[in-house]
Amino acid sequence: QQAVLQVDNLKTYFHLEEGKTAKAVDDISFKISPGETVALVGESGSGKSISALSIMQLINKPGRIEGGKITLNGKDITNYNAKQMTKIRGNDIAMIFQEPMTALNPVFTIGNQITEIVRKHKNMSRQEAHQHAVHLLKLVGLSRAEEIMKEFPHQLSGGMRQRVMIAMAISCDPMLLIADEPTTALDVTIQAQILDLMNEMKERFQMALLLITHDVGVVSQYADRVMVMYGGQIVEEATVDVLLESPKHPYTQGLLDSLPMVDKDVNRLGTIKGTVPPAYDFPSGCRFSTRCPHVMEKCHSHNPRLSTSDSEHHVRCHLYPSEVKE
Ligand code: SF4
Ligand code: MG
Repeated sequence: QQAVLQVDNLKTYFHLEEGKTAKAVDDISFKISPGETVALVGESGSGKSISALSIMQLINKPGRIEGGKITLNGKDITNYNAKQMTKIRGNDIAMIFQEPMTALNPVFTIGNQITEIVRKHKNMSRQEAHQHAVHLLKLVGLSRAEEIMKEFPHQLSGGMRQRVMIAMAISCDPMLLIADEPTTALDVTIQAQILDLMNEMKERFQMALLLITHDVGVVSQYADRVMVMYGGQIVEEATVDVLLESPKHPYTQGLLDSLPMVDKDVNRLGTIKGTVPPAYDFPSGCRFSTRCPHVMEKCHSHNPRLSTSDSEHHVRCHLYPSEVKE
């Protein structure tokens, strides 16, 4: 089955002052199949958002895609120009951000904005586009759709704004939806509603979903497969069941330990000591070596590669020497 998205050896670096280079995304590869939900998980600063923005070609100076290949539904889009990418972003890939206020224009009504998007993608009259926009708003659970069309973004709650963003995303029938921390800014009770809605829309419109989150609880509930990111690299990848059952990488184990579960002492929250090192100052060797409870001598000098021996479960750690080449 052809992947919806295939990323090969993607590198995105930021060239900072004083000649420093931040290797925000450093040689990541992955695939997403049609209909699949893949979670990209890690703490903030691990390179998740930069990965998504790189796929969308939304990286600005001093950032630059240094290498790699991005294939969308079999087409190599790596060297697409700005105009071609605008088309891709409208038709094939939609993105939902953490804070919908930044994606919505505060001076136009919801109706203006959603109708404009609909008209850009579908050959519809203004009247037809208006009807379609109302239909989409109802589809995402906004029952007062006609009224909301006349309202401005600031008049809606955060949850309603995110519903509007989902409506806009599905209005162009994308094959891939990228959601970057879509519920982080919302109340806990609203978070689940929005994630359920996204999941429902994903199934209904048969999209693939790249779900970026720092929340392992979200991963366990919605993802089919998980990629754990640390220091600009993927350090573990497996199906969600395998990853939750038998995490191999010490970083993944730490993330899972921080999950509040009923049978666990809540005091164990946040068991990974320290913070993600800045991307211009990774330690030599394994990038997790400054925080790893299992760090060994060779971890300081050699950065392990992602294993390939087991096609279902990849890990980047010297604790698994038979699986990892140097
Ligand atoms: Fe820890 Fe070493 Fe494995 Fe890195 S390679 S995660 S430092 S044991
Ligand atoms: Mg982020």
